[in-house]
Amino acid sequence: MLGVGRDFRSGGEVVRALDDIDLALAPGEMAALLGPSGSGKSTLLLTAGLLEPPDRGRVRIAGRDAAGPDCWMTAGERRRFRRDHIGFVFQKANLIPFLTARENIRIALDVAGVERLEARRRTAELLDWLDLDRRASALPARLSGGEQQRVAIARALANHPVLLLADEPTAALDAARAARVMALFRAIAETRGAAVMVVTHDHRALDLFHRRFTMQDGRLAPAAPDPAVKRF
Ligand code: ATP
Ligand code: MG
Repeated sequence: MLGVGRDFRSGGEVVRALDDIDLALAPGEMAALLGPSGSGKSTLLLTAGLLEPPDRGRVRIAGRDAAGPDCWMTAGERRRFRRDHIGFVFQKANLIPFLTARENIRIALDVAGVERLEARRRTAELLDWLDLDRRASALPARLSGGEQQRVAIARALANHPVLLLADEPTAALDAARAARVMALFRAIAETRGAAVMVVTHDHRALDLFHRRFTMQDGRLAPAAPDPAVKRF
């Protein structure tokens, strides 16, 4: 749940990047964030993901106040909270180039302090789930764009996030791979009960989303939720 505002000041001028936005996502719900360039989509995602501080309002995740001027969480606590509860996928996979696909996933679990045997088990499970078994020992440079993005998604899922955020995750992919990635996000929402929000320009995939929002000049125009979505 999020009710936030965010301003940027550039040369005396104030850009209202987020104009007091209210948004609540239920577990298992997958939302699309559409809108023109510069409308504030990335800013909203970064704010929801606790990577940018809101100037007004607050971000609540899993029942906790996690960001906002009145939030008492320390920077360290917020970092830990983010690591434990949020997954973020960017437009580019941003994999560590000298680690294999498996190691790129594994390191996320190590950083999160997951115990060794459990980390091994979960890495194998993610490789299997994302259909990366055969590519597990390859370095990122030897992976296709779609494979790299799937590794990035596996990494984002490593901590079983309650909130998965993705900023144009399919922009670098062809139509078939983009469709697979979007279907995967839907499966993550449904099988894991994560709330998923995806910034996308890909109008072919919109049927997959339970809800669609359009940003315009920092404001959000909501669309009615799909009644088929189970509410928790
Ligand atoms: P795109 O589709 O091009 O990625 P977007 O919808 O993601 O655009 P944002 O990146 O969220 O848009 O930017 C929203 C507004 O905030 C823009 O006017 C942008 O110039 C401004 N902005 C974003 N980040 C900063 C920053 N760090 N400093 C100053 N202004 C910023
Ligand atoms: Mg953006």
